[in-house]
Amino acid sequence: VYLEALQAILTEAQMIQAGAVANYIPELATADPHQTAIALCDETGAIHSVGDDTAVFTLQSCSKVFAHALALRAVGSQRLLQSVGVEPSGDRFDGIISLESRGRAHNPLINSGAICTSSLIPGNSLTEKLKTLLGGFSEFAGSVLSIDVSVFLSEREHGHRNRAIAHLLRSSGGLTGDVDEALELYFQQCAVQVTTQQLSVMAATLAFQGFNPKTKQQVLDKSHVRDVLSVMMTCGIYDASGEWMYTVGLPAKSGVGGGILAVVPGKMGIAVYSPRLDNFGTSVRGAYICERLSDRFGWHLFA
Ligand code: GLU
Repeated sequence: VYLEALQAILTEAQMIQAGAVANYIPELATADPHQTAIALCDETGAIHSVGDDTAVFTLQSCSKVFAHALALRAVGSQRLLQSVGVEPSGDRFDGIISLESRGRAHNPLINSGAICTSSLIPGNSLTEKLKTLLGGFSEFAGSVLSIDVSVFLSEREHGHRNRAIAHLLRSSGGLTGDVDEALELYFQQCAVQVTTQQLSVMAATLAFQGFNPKTKQQVLDKSHVRDVLSVMMTCGIYDASGEWMYTVGLPAKSGVGGGILAVVPGKMGIAVYSPRLDNFGTSVRGAYICERLSDRFGWHLFA
């Protein structure tokens, strides 16, 4: 029932030429701007997908959702709230000015907050933490995920702004522990590679209260899924989250790799991919597709 609608929406989206591929690190600038994909994962774990649905891209900011989930799983919501808030920042994802007065990150879905959640991923060494992180992400995806090493190295080499954010937070006490280790893990989580199909399963696991419909495993506690989705709903689309809620009406997260995941609670996991971004950092075609899907299937939460 879905494929025909998906194909029609894909064809419309492919006519959009606006936006530009991320170029803040050289490795991302090489993405093919024409690639576009849509994948839906339903409650049976079946994937309905069209376009470049097996093209690989890096999660970038989409990883923040799952690092948030794993930090909740590790330390619980009370402890996490001490380090990271749940308020939209109204600022760029790599904003630094407001941190100076506030002392702690606004929310887990911008860089400052995400570096804090990364610092709470359990493990006795960076290797162990990376294992926890990749293992956890893979549970959401129902397949074994790995890192794009050149994107990771590029990010690490050019990550001066993120380093500045992390050190500022460390000096105010918003971040505790080893700063370099937190940054290293953050750069690694951004470089986790997925296909649109895999990302749709990650979204579906959140749509079905932490139950992965593909592997039939409970990956995250229901109460933590509620926490994660609440923050996605208010803070997931950078400083355009209000407009997103208005037009698409679903908790979602975008990343500068061109991916977006969106969650229709109890119904569907959505993933889209197309690397050309708007000024906020969200895929232009991806946002268009989400809006059309939401309209077409009546998925806006307040429709
Ligand atoms: N790796 C990117 C950064 O830290 C992620 C940003 C994003 O996807 O919004 O700048």
